[in-house]
Amino acid sequence: MLELRPSCEHCDKPLPPDSTEAMICSYECTYCRTCAIELFDNVCPSCAGNFTERPIRPQFGLAKHPASTIRIFKPKDVKQAQIRSAKFATIPPEKR
Ligand SMILES: [Zn+2]
Ligand SMILES: [Zn+2]
Repeated sequence: MLELRPSCEHCDKPLPPDSTEAMICSYECTYCRTCAIELFDNVCPSCAGNFTERPIRPQFGLAKHPASTIRIFKPKDVKQAQIRSAKFATIPPEKR
């Protein structure tokens, strides 16, 4: 089950479970769309995988399985992350 983390790991923007801006990698590293796509060029700074839109859990599901409230805030070294992104961004995710 997805944790539905409450915020962007890089910029700390709130990403409530109904956010349409939340992006996740296969490890569930969670970023806002701006960080995931514009800043990191769809390359996860932690695992180099791609991002996908986080699905939105319907409200009746949230009542039973609430979103995580554990905030993960680990800003990345943007320069380093972008060097890494440049290495992987041209390789399709399934070939990385
Ligand atoms: Zn962000
Ligand atoms: Zn990742």
